[in-house]
Amino acid sequence: MKTELFSQLYSLIKSSKSVAIISHVSPDGDTLASSYALKLFIDSLGVRADLFCEDKCPYSYFFLIDSTAYSTDDIDENKYDAFIAVDCADALRTGKYSVIFNKKNRTAVIDHHKTNVGYADINIIDETAAATGVIVFDFFQSVNHKMSREQAELIYAAISTDTGNFTYSNADRRAYNVAGICVESGIDVAGLTKCLFKDKSINKLNLIASAILTIKLHYDGKISSMTVSNDMLEKTGCTYDDTDELINYCRDIYGVKAAVLVRETAEVGVLKVSMRSNDVDVAAVALSHGGGGHTNAAGCNLKMPLLQGEELIVKELSELL
Ligand code: AMP
Ligand code: MN
Ligand code: MN
Repeated sequence: MKTELFSQLYSLIKSSKSVAIISHVSPDGDTLASSYALKLFIDSLGVRADLFCEDKCPYSYFFLIDSTAYSTDDIDENKYDAFIAVDCADALRTGKYSVIFNKKNRTAVIDHHKTNVGYADINIIDETAAATGVIVFDFFQSVNHKMSREQAELIYAAISTDTGNFTYSNADRRAYNVAGICVESGIDVAGLTKCLFKDKSINKLNLIASAILTIKLHYDGKISSMTVSNDMLEKTGCTYDDTDELINYCRDIYGVKAAVLVRETAEVGVLKVSMRSNDVDVAAVALSHGGGGHTNAAGCNLKMPLLQGEELIVKELSELL
């Protein structure tokens, strides 16, 4: 079935002069690196590929990709013959570009979220893939494309970021296998790992310290929560981009089955909720608030004050215990 979908995607690309590739809002390593690897492939076919993301690329990925290649502008639909969403669980995750997918005209989605119901003409959704990067790799193989070293770095980065540097339960044999093929192309794994997972500013360390102080345990320590306010960002000289992995501190506490991080965003009153679990399905809670994700990692937005959001999600997570 996937072979057929891959050949449909290939035909869509080959029959286009220009393709728009779209990453999800609040972009992460998987959506950015997978879309960039795909762009390089499409370029190599002599077809123009432009990258779009409603939100700016976080500075922590500047070492990996040409961040100026991502446009935050509206897409002029007349300029493109095809539109491909990468790692976007639903049309809304493409942000303002969702209108394009609502029309369903020469659209495709490549994704691995189990909550993705398919919202494009060509829906390549494989929830068994650890990262969208794994599916992009499969696509390259199906069309006999040999990855360049740069593409191997990107695919490796996509997989390593979505698996928490191969520490989450989605780090399966297939993920390691694809990563191994990337390593064979001579990529600098230690260098990539340092840039992706270790390097940080002193401001970020101060933010981590203040975020850890907000951690609360609930329900006999089975649920943990953390909050990050805009005030904390201001005081530590950080931006929203610095808040991404904070939830790991919350999830990694002995006895915790589900963890939640609630963040204020630039939009007053809008909260971004991230959930992680060790053995319950947090995607269900995310979905009930219009979000989505995976069993062990999911997210959604809420419109309410910070502490109220924290209380609400903690209560809902407790119902999963
Ligand atoms: P995050 O907590 O933002 O790292 O996201 C965890 C997982 O849930 C990722 O796979 C996201 O793509 C997904 N996710 C986060 N927020 C949403 C949302 N609002 N809608 C759909 N999926 C989401
Ligand atoms: Mn993602
Ligand atoms: Mn992903």
